Amino acid sequence: MKILTVSDVVVSLLQCAQLPERFEGIDLILACGDLPFDYMEYLVSRFNRPLFYVFGNHPLRELIRADGTVKEAPEGCINIHRRVVNYKGLLIAGFEGSMRYSLGAHQYTQGQMDWMVFTMAPILMWNRWRYGRAVDILVTHAAPEGIHDAPDLPHQGFRAFLTFMERYKPRYLIHGHTHLYRQDAPRITQFGETTVINTYGYQILEIDEAELTKRR
Ligand SMILES: [Zn+2]
Repeated sequence: MKILTVSDVVVSLLQCAQLPERFEGIDLILACGDLPFDYMEYLVSRFNRPLFYVFGNHPLRELIRADGTVKEAPEGCINIHRRVVNYKGLLIAGFEGSMRYSLGAHQYTQGQMDWMVFTMAPILMWNRWRYGRAVDILVTHAAPEGIHDAPDLPHQGFRAFLTFMERYKPRYLIHGHTHLYRQDAPRITQFGETTVINTYGYQILEIDEAELTKRR
């Protein structure tokens, strides 16, 4: 399965009339937050594939429709915050937001994120019993504590994501939020059985489903 992951910045390359060959055969799109609604909606129609997302910490770009109603989420996209979805056998979970640093939306303390991870235990244990694995991909906006994070409060990572990886062993954790300004900044880090990827901009991930079902 070929997965396009995006976050934080609109990539003009993806809006070209002719997409480079590496974007052929995308099966699924994962969006890790801080993206305009119209960009996510554009990706869904461009690739004609489902897009699963979590919100970032930046204020939602709400839009007022012609009839005066407010659009609070991108249309045709699926919010997976505190959920696990099964897309063609691939188990995908998500947690939105960043560390709490102001009164804005989608910001959480370490304790609140610990609690949200804790509440996912029943569904993840059920998956482990049913499929032999709890989850394949964890989609987050913020980074895990100590991995691709930064010392300033808004960019500190969540310790709950380390707990999640230790307990449920996803194959991948895909996050955004930490902007990459240098070519040599670390983007991929291995943590136990999980490959942690900062998708800032975009990344393409190829997963062999047969490999996933073999794992215990
Ligand atoms: Zn962010």
